[in-house]
Amino acid sequence: MGHREQIYLYLADRKGKDMKATILVIEDNEKNRYLTTFILEKHGYQVFQAEDGQAGIALAHQIKPDLILLDIQLPVMDGYAVARELRQNGELRDVPIVAVTSYAMVGDREQVLAAGCVGYIEKPINPATFVTEIEQYLLARKPNGTQEVRHD
Ligand code: MN
Repeated sequence: MGHREQIYLYLADRKGKDMKATILVIEDNEKNRYLTTFILEKHGYQVFQAEDGQAGIALAHQIKPDLILLDIQLPVMDGYAVARELRQNGELRDVPIVAVTSYAMVGDREQVLAAGCVGYIEKPINPATFVTEIEQYLLARKPNGTQEVRHD
C-alpha cells in the first residue's frame, strides 16, 4: 500500500470517505498562497488560508487541521512566534507544523525545529515534490499507518 492510500484510509476513517487531510496555509504572499492551495486542492486536500499569524492561530483553533504550512516571513508576528504559540495549545499540540522558508541561512533549520515545527520546505516550492513532502509529514505523525482508531 502506498503512502497516498494509507493517508486516504486514515482520513476516510476519521472524516468519512472522500475526505483527505485538512491543511492550513499561513502565508502572507498572495501568489505563494495561491500556488500552494492550487497544488494541494488538485491532490484532494481541503485547504484553509490565513494571511497572518494571528488569523492563522485563530483558524487553527477553529478547524483543527491535520497539518499546518507556516511561512516564516510574516508581518507583525513571524512564523517562529506563531509556531511557539501553537505548540502551547494542548488541542493543537500534535498537529505537525511545517515551516516554509526562503531563507538559505545556516541555523534556519535549528530555529525552525526549536520553535516546534517538524521540518521545513524551501521556497520557492517545487510543484513536482511538494505533495510528496507533505504526505511524508502527514504520515510521520502515524508511523504505524492507519490502524489507530481516533475518538475525536
Ligand atoms: Mn511571507
